[in-house]
Amino acid sequence: MGLPRPIVFGNWKMHGLKAEARALAGGLAERAGKPTATLGVFPPATVLAEVAAQLAGTGILVGGQDCHEQPKGAFTGSIAAPMLRDAGAAAVIVGHSERRHGLCETDALVKAKAEAALSAGLLVVLCIGETEAQWLAGQTLDVLDAQLAASWPEGGTAERVVVAYEPVWAIGTGRTPTLDDIGRTHAAIGERLEGLATDGADVAILYGGSVKPDNAGEIMAVPGVHGVLVGGASLDAAGFWTIYRTGGGS
Ligand code: PEP
Repeated sequence: MGLPRPIVFGNWKMHGLKAEARALAGGLAERAGKPTATLGVFPPATVLAEVAAQLAGTGILVGGQDCHEQPKGAFTGSIAAPMLRDAGAAAVIVGHSERRHGLCETDALVKAKAEAALSAGLLVVLCIGETEAQWLAGQTLDVLDAQLAASWPEGGTAERVVVAYEPVWAIGTGRTPTLDDIGRTHAAIGERLEGLATDGADVAILYGGSVKPDNAGEIMAVPGVHGVLVGGASLDAAGFWTIYRTGGGS
């Protein structure tokens, strides 16, 4: 059910002029035969079509980093899910903390975006995560529970939605929860998801936040971790490939 695991996704964020994107995608294309697990990249929208064309036939999935909740309309500067699909995307990230916290996106908006993505035929990568203050106050599981309940898309299935648990305080900081904490949190998310996915199947849960080649193996070996969402370390083809291989991908 769902994508072959481990699932290793790279979020390029706001990085990648054409030449850089071409080199990075080329570095992955030359390493990938036909991936046995799932490897994917999420480049900026400006280079998405070119990266998708470059990676066509490699088995590497390409996705967008965000989408609007409407399929089209007078929304200057926004990108609709069908546009991402049209440009070659197979997936889209919604609810990344840099949008939830940096751009004040609410759970309701994230849910609407996820539903728009599903309607456009895109796989949804639904990000959730607690802030450092919530972590220190012992509120992590309550926060994740509330985010999942309010942002899980109507009709979402394990086939079409992947959840990424990304503690906000671990993103780009070089800090990570302990492996035990990651395991406990993923187990709790898994239990919560049992009541949400309409196909009753096992939704893939990725860990994200300062995943690097040297910690990816131990993180992906934690029970309940089905892959990783990688930010900074996905901008280097060799390192990102190492993360994928470390998790068991080939
Ligand atoms: C992310 O932005 O999704 C992320 C996990 O970033 P980093 O790997 O750089 O912490």
